[in-house]
Amino acid sequence: MSKVIQIVEDDPKSLKLIRDLLLSSGYTIIEATDGRQGVELAKAQKPDLIFMDIQMPVMDGLEATKILKADGETKDIPIIALTAYAMKEDEAKVLQAGCDGYMTKPIDIKRFLKKAEEYLSGHTGHTLNEL
Ligand code: MN
Repeated sequence: MSKVIQIVEDDPKSLKLIRDLLLSSGYTIIEATDGRQGVELAKAQKPDLIFMDIQMPVMDGLEATKILKADGETKDIPIIALTAYAMKEDEAKVLQAGCDGYMTKPIDIKRFLKKAEEYLSGHTGHTLNEL
């Protein structure tokens, strides 16, 4: 059975790019376009991994992550934040909210797929850094 990846992204172009990449790699995709929808979908479907945009209407990705990480049923789902700018303070904010990882947009296709594989297999950056 293929792994289920949830994308939470309000920008249609980014959503399409990420969806196409992950579908072509054989993953099953579920989607939400704002933080509130993202929380509801994750609670209902329990995906294996979540890519979470940060700037979104209704509820942003930081708030959505905090809610999912505070819930025993969803706290173990890895969440990788997607954010438009690479600034140290944003990295601190996403990690503080409980995100397990962080990628900046525009995404690098190779790194993106590698990151997805790593998190799905439990071999996250922390583990790799210790080798
Ligand atoms: Mn956005």
